[in-house]
Amino acid sequence: MTRLLLIGPPGAGKGTQAARLSERLGIPAISTGDIFRENLRAGTELGLLAKSFMDRGEYVPDTVTNDLIADRLTAADADSGFLLDGYPRTTEQVRTLDEFLADHGHSLDAVVQLTADEDETVSRLLKRARDQGRSDDTEAVIRHRLELYAQQTEPLIDVYADRGLVVRVDGLGSMDDVTERIVAVLSERGIRQAA
Ligand code: ADP
Repeated sequence: MTRLLLIGPPGAGKGTQAARLSERLGIPAISTGDIFRENLRAGTELGLLAKSFMDRGEYVPDTVTNDLIADRLTAADADSGFLLDGYPRTTEQVRTLDEFLADHGHSLDAVVQLTADEDETVSRLLKRARDQGRSDDTEAVIRHRLELYAQQTEPLIDVYADRGLVVRVDGLGSMDDVTERIVAVLSERGIRQAA
């Protein structure tokens, strides 16, 4: 039973690494951004609401995001562990997750901080904009997402560092190299791959 968070700036490669770690560790990767986008594709009310924030590079309001995650974490597949990608991003979300875990008698095993410098993340995101056409990958919106990350989300790393949970991994290099780095630091903490 492994419970992990993956934190890093937009463009650090969280989504890619989350999918790989999910497979290696045998736990579901849960991305709030993906859930919002799936809802948008399905044309749900939640999807439309989320879009109005995502397109401006703003965070979706905490009440909405917290309810969504509480719901997702009570699904059967998350019983045996999970990897959260892109949640929590605010102090209020940390509080909600703490409460949820305490209520269920669970705790986090590690918080993986994926680092990447700003020039690299911006160029990755602009490339993704060309390849995939995500509506929140324009340069102005990207800058705003990075600002919001620095203001609201990066400080959360200190909160988890004070709890001794943070492992820091350099997100630069090939996707395989980064995965191996993460697997190695987790394994040093006794978090092993699924058999
Ligand atoms: P990125 O990490 O590049 O910002 P994501 O796909 O993780 O990409 O998130 C895209 C958008 O979804 C965010 O800019 C934000 O609008 C919304 N979002 C995702 N996760 C959260 C969250 N935990 N709280 C609030 N909004 C979120």
